Amino acid sequence: MSSYDVIVVGSGAGGGTLARHLAPSGKRILILERGDWLPREPGNWLARDVFVDNRYVSQDTWYDEKGRPFQPQVHYFVGGATKLYGAALYRLRAEDFGELRHRDGVSPAWPIPYDEMEPYYTEAERIYRVHGARGEDPTEPPASAAYPYPAVSHEPRIQQLSDDLEAAGHRPFHAPCGVMLDEGNMPYSTCVRCPTCDGFPCLVHAKADAEVLAVRPALEHSNVTLLTGAEAVRLETNDAGTVVTGVVVDRDGERETYTSDLVVVSCGAANSAKLLLASASDKHPRGLANGSDQVGRNYMFHASQAVLALSKEPNPTVFQKTLGLNDFYFGGPDVDYPLGNIQMVGKSSAEMYRGEKPLQTRLAPQWTLDKVAEHAVDFWLSTEDLPVPENRVTLGADGSVALAYAPTNDVAKKRLMHELKAILSKTGMHDEHLLPRHAYLKNEIPVAGCAHQAGTCRFGRDPASSVLDVDCRAHELDNLYVVDTSFFPSIGAVNPALTAMANAVRVGERILERLGAPAAHGEPAHVA
Ligand SMILES: Cc1cc2nc3c(=O)[nH]c(=O)nc-3n(C[C@H](O)[C@H](O)[C@H](O)COP(=O)(O)OP(=O)(O)OC[C@H]3O[C@@H](n4cnc5c(N)ncnc54)[C@H](O)[C@@H]3O)c2cc1C
Ligand code: SF4
Repeated sequence: MSSYDVIVVGSGAGGGTLARHLAPSGKRILILERGDWLPREPGNWLARDVFVDNRYVSQDTWYDEKGRPFQPQVHYFVGGATKLYGAALYRLRAEDFGELRHRDGVSPAWPIPYDEMEPYYTEAERIYRVHGARGEDPTEPPASAAYPYPAVSHEPRIQQLSDDLEAAGHRPFHAPCGVMLDEGNMPYSTCVRCPTCDGFPCLVHAKADAEVLAVRPALEHSNVTLLTGAEAVRLETNDAGTVVTGVVVDRDGERETYTSDLVVVSCGAANSAKLLLASASDKHPRGLANGSDQVGRNYMFHASQAVLALSKEPNPTVFQKTLGLNDFYFGGPDVDYPLGNIQMVGKSSAEMYRGEKPLQTRLAPQWTLDKVAEHAVDFWLSTEDLPVPENRVTLGADGSVALAYAPTNDVAKKRLMHELKAILSKTGMHDEHLLPRHAYLKNEIPVAGCAHQAGTCRFGRDPASSVLDVDCRAHELDNLYVVDTSFFPSIGAVNPALTAMANAVRVGERILERLGAPAAHGEPAHVA
């Protein structure tokens, strides 16, 4: 008999949410997480520690297609990348689930329609306390419930930007946001509305991340066990290669094997592919679940640009990530292909510029950078990155992640920037003063900025062109599931985490059915 009913490998948006959903069933669940708890310390909120010293970035070395090493911007902690994320929790658009024609090709249809995911989006918004306002964003998909919390208010400078955009005929909206902010009762609000949110851990545990709202609630159940510092390095199978029989783990310098009836891999898109490829065997010579040769392929991470607009007047905004604009999501003036999403990003600071551009800012006096930051209004532009088979994860000579990547939709990306400049020139910001900025690219190797990584194990109905079936179970192995962003067949142009969370709840329902356990609904008892 297996020691556990389910092993979940990885505790981020996908794995953490799944564990939370399974926890009330009473089934024996083991979460294996290679990272540790993210320490709560003053450095959580210090830009120098986070952006210059890379305090919370893994020491991993990955390799690009030419074999050049780089340090990926990945975060190994309980809660995964959500510990550092900006908590912009968007649903994909309904159209993203269908086929969409882009400048550089076709974004393929998902094997399930939006309607099938909708109830799980609603549940994920409830779990992750999403604040928002329905009806403002013209591209918003239908929803069966209101946002569970009211939208986070704009501060005056952003409200002015919103008013200016509306006056110019645009449709800005309050961005959906996962922070535990109670603006009506600030003395009791968990979130204190601080300037160090997007890209920082939350010192007061007020960010709706997977540690706080998924793993900790799951651990309230005595049937759930978490092992930290436990890196899964290989999955073993039976002789026929049809069932995973063991998860081999490196922990505290020891190699251990854990067994369970079902195994769920959720290590993040690159690392899940790595684990499957590293589990090659006689029956799976190209890697586990890889008869289709699709494991590792179709890696996507958004064609993103962080743009710092220098406003004529100072921008004293503290929490800036409250506004979004999807007017160019499906096209633009004289453009009949999708351009993408525009949203605010966390307010920039002098230390961030030093972290992002160490060479260019080395000789700059602090006051000049402070002056730039004082007037900066910061935007994040995302254009859909198309799935391309050659954009792929393989294993380097030493078993590390090797990432071959060539960008797509570059014309659409530039056009989105052009549209932003055009609209900002009408809103009190000098378009000639827009400076491109690479918020999460601290060096010049673009593949290092893998915050929005997805693809590599896409789900689909045809085993010849996908790794997972519609339930995110491997076509070739009866008891193996994958629930991180690697299941995405396409990535859309909005942030990916809520879709991973919603899908984890969806897959969790299938797993509970399979285990003969009752469907779990409602909050665990202790969650306020
Ligand atoms: C700075 C930053 C800002 C972001 N902002 C946003 C945002 O505003 N909105 C949004 O939607 N998304 C945002 N994202 C992206 C979002 O965080 C990810 O899309 C999401 O966390 C992906 O979920 P996942 O489950 O695929 O992977 P992760 O959340 O990364 O979880 C993977 C987990 O697996 C663990 N792991 C890896 N390998 C192994 C192994 N071999 N054995 C055991 N454990 C392993 C990792 O330590 C990690 O805990 C941001 C990301 C970053 C880095
Ligand atoms: S804004 Fe709120 S959720 Fe974000 S880091 Fe600050 S206190 Fe935490």
